Amino acid sequence: MNSGLTIQHMFDYATTYFPDQTIVCRKPEGTIRLSYQEFGHRTRRLAAALMALGVGPGDRVGTFLWNDLPHLEAYFAVPLIGGVLHTINIRLPADQLLYLVNHPEDRVLIVDRTLWPALAPLRERLTSVTAIILTGRSPDPDPLGTLDYDTILEETDGHFDYPAVQETMPMGLCYTSATTGNPKGVLYSHRGMYLHSLTLGLANTLGISLEDTVLPIVPMFHVNAWGIPFAAVWFGAKMVLPGPAPQASTLLDLMRDESVTLAAGVPTVWLSIARELEARPTRLALRAAVAGGSAAPATLIRLFESTFRIPFIHAYGMTETSPLVTVSRLKPHHRTLSDEEQLAIKATQGFLVPGLAMKLERDQHPVPWDGESVGELCLQGPWIADEYYRDPRTRDTFIDGWLHTGDLASVTQEGYVHLRDRTKDVIKSGGEWISSVDLENALMAHPAVFEAAVVSVPHPQWGERPLAFVVVKEGRSATQEELRKSLRDRFAKWQLPDGILFVPEIPKSSVGKFLKRALRDAYRDYFQPSSGE
Ligand code: ADP
Repeated sequence: MNSGLTIQHMFDYATTYFPDQTIVCRKPEGTIRLSYQEFGHRTRRLAAALMALGVGPGDRVGTFLWNDLPHLEAYFAVPLIGGVLHTINIRLPADQLLYLVNHPEDRVLIVDRTLWPALAPLRERLTSVTAIILTGRSPDPDPLGTLDYDTILEETDGHFDYPAVQETMPMGLCYTSATTGNPKGVLYSHRGMYLHSLTLGLANTLGISLEDTVLPIVPMFHVNAWGIPFAAVWFGAKMVLPGPAPQASTLLDLMRDESVTLAAGVPTVWLSIARELEARPTRLALRAAVAGGSAAPATLIRLFESTFRIPFIHAYGMTETSPLVTVSRLKPHHRTLSDEEQLAIKATQGFLVPGLAMKLERDQHPVPWDGESVGELCLQGPWIADEYYRDPRTRDTFIDGWLHTGDLASVTQEGYVHLRDRTKDVIKSGGEWISSVDLENALMAHPAVFEAAVVSVPHPQWGERPLAFVVVKEGRSATQEELRKSLRDRFAKWQLPDGILFVPEIPKSSVGKFLKRALRDAYRDYFQPSSGE
């Protein structure tokens, strides 16, 4: 039968079969707990309220929210009525926010009251927006003409017939940063998100199930929190939402108090949690610390698996891919390898999840899967976008039915992807290529190093040379020479960074990735003769 693969089905299934399951939401004023049944009623009410505001199939509803209850409700309510859930990054500057609302012509915005000051000055210029709904509480009076989230939910009983939704219709929209110019939009279809969610339930990937208590640390504006809320609710997991701006200590408490079994975040978040765990050993029920978004250093994986005894799952994906692409899982025959060999495999990005296809390409030619040769990773599959939304940059990335990821990788004969760099971060020294990711990993393996980023800086003789930035662990010290020495066994001399600078912190992007662009810009003259070494 051709019954549709829609979010409507996922929502109905979850609320029918798991009405007693719990959603926990941490709030500064106190933690909220509710059942899936209550969540279902609230979500239907939001859906009805949005319909009453004129949201129809295809209309974009922007969210400007933390990982909290209204966000989870919007995740389901908007697609239920055929709308497009547009999750907006709450940490972007005003000019980008303006673009992010105006470019997709968002019709309604759902905004946390504490975040409203970022949007308020833009209000007159948000020309497509016909209604603004504010969530949460604030001592300040509400801005004129805005609606209160809880009030609009109370004003409807939530009874309505779903509009017809085809599985190929869009249900979500996310923007991803571009090297230059405005962010690029990626539309997700019901079908894509349905199949992506199913995949998150497979034992070979994250195996999310009704046995789990799931904590998405990754912001819900970042690639649908990696699709985890959709899968977790569908499969009846207990959901834990961390609320506004959680710190590592809060996350650790939340994991302990709610017996979280699976949590997902970028490596820098796991690094902070590791630091907290070292200072304050805590018994956790975690069966999976899931990291993605940038390369998880091998030392971080070792710390979790050997010291904390918490299984660590390294995964790879991007906004254009919903995002799940690969998961680093050992195969049964790897169990006979040494710990270090197993760790080396776990530190790769892993192999492709079922349902997708990949190829490695350089100058339009296939690159062999020999674990050494490097090419650009190209992807195909039902949850991979085939264009940027209303954007001519589509033609640079989506070529002949393949997404060209801009990620440079080698692939082993067994299919393990090892990401070596992003095209935009590549260091080209005297015509030779140096992997910044490999250098970072090696630096972070040094016991005194907390974080390390390596960037490409223009050089008068070599074109570009690597420059390393290192944050030393609290209470530890290291010298340039010591760190350089620790790299010597693994890298040729010409691959070593020309400078290792000790910094108090490494700038991070809005989702916690190293912001290498900021370092490159700040140090672009570092090797120039006048200012140089
Ligand atoms: P942005 O460009 O804003 O970072 P995304 O969040 O979509 O946008 O990032 C996707 C990119 O993040 C990938 O193309 C890849 O370069 C990087 N990435 C994601 N997961 C990993 C991983 N596990 N290891 C290394 N890099 C990763």
